[in-house]
Amino acid sequence: MTSCSVCGNGDYVFHGVLEAKLIGQWQLSAEEAAYIDAQQGTRCTQCGSSLRVAALADAILAALDHAGPLVDFCRSDAGAMPRVLDINGAVFISDVLSVLPGYVRGDYPEVDMLDLPYADESFDIVLHSDTLEHVPNPLRALEECRRVLVPGGRLCYTAPTIVGRMTRSRAGLPKSYHGDPKANADDYLVHTEFGADMWCYPLRAGFAHVGLHQRDFPAAIAITASRAGGPAVSPSSARHLTGYVDVAGPDLVAGWAMDQTGISAVAVDVIINDTATIRAPAQKHRPDLQGIYETSGNHGFHVLLDRSLLRPGTNRVTVCFAGTDVQIPNGDQYFQFF
Ligand SMILES: [Zn+2]
Repeated sequence: MTSCSVCGNGDYVFHGVLEAKLIGQWQLSAEEAAYIDAQQGTRCTQCGSSLRVAALADAILAALDHAGPLVDFCRSDAGAMPRVLDINGAVFISDVLSVLPGYVRGDYPEVDMLDLPYADESFDIVLHSDTLEHVPNPLRALEECRRVLVPGGRLCYTAPTIVGRMTRSRAGLPKSYHGDPKANADDYLVHTEFGADMWCYPLRAGFAHVGLHQRDFPAAIAITASRAGGPAVSPSSARHLTGYVDVAGPDLVAGWAMDQTGISAVAVDVIINDTATIRAPAQKHRPDLQGIYETSGNHGFHVLLDRSLLRPGTNRVTVCFAGTDVQIPNGDQYFQFF
């Protein structure tokens, strides 16, 4: 088994959690019960993350384009500032991500997946963990997740899945619960038992692309679903250190950089996904601002993005002073896509 993608620890311990009553309601075979029990009951000895949580962290790391573990991403000064919506929490993942400035936690019933209280295109990543099976209308919930994501943004989630059968609604069947239903019984009520066709749901909800991350298949499966990229880039990226551009999106990165060294010109490196670099000299392509350049050391730049350097989906774009790893910072100096 590979190491824990949340904390990086390599040791797991198993304590079964599945009760006979639930196995009966769910009509699980012995094999199915064993892998669902492994998913929920095999836990990291350091942070307590289950295989399900590790699979979800794998999916989130892919969305962040970070090798992991997740604690390292949140400790690092990678420059990325994803806006993350965490619906109902995901155990230790929530603790780790909550240090990010763009982290938002929303819990039922104040935050209802059927009518999320957020504006369109508010988040780069939305995540939920074993929540969708409890929502009366899972398609509507996924459509809401899609609505609040920016173009190219990513939904990452888990829901208990039996891979040898198709999804079924529990409507008309005896009530079945996950977890401890003592406090708010209906919050734990299962509406949908997901099966082999679970990947169809995000596509039916309008997502453009679906991917799967597994741990000890078929024990734990996490889904990533990408919102189609449009011409827009994350609106707040204009003043962030690092921006994101969709492969189908803008062609041009441009902005201003103040020459703080006193020399008379600056050039920039536009770095795509930490590897490919396009270097360009600063250009005085805004005549209306030419006086500002000359008196303050400001320089505009104007760099065409070479589409052959972009990969499918969302690409990370960083702009640095040429030949250095000093990023063009926010504030009065910034870059934006056009
Ligand atoms: Zn761990």
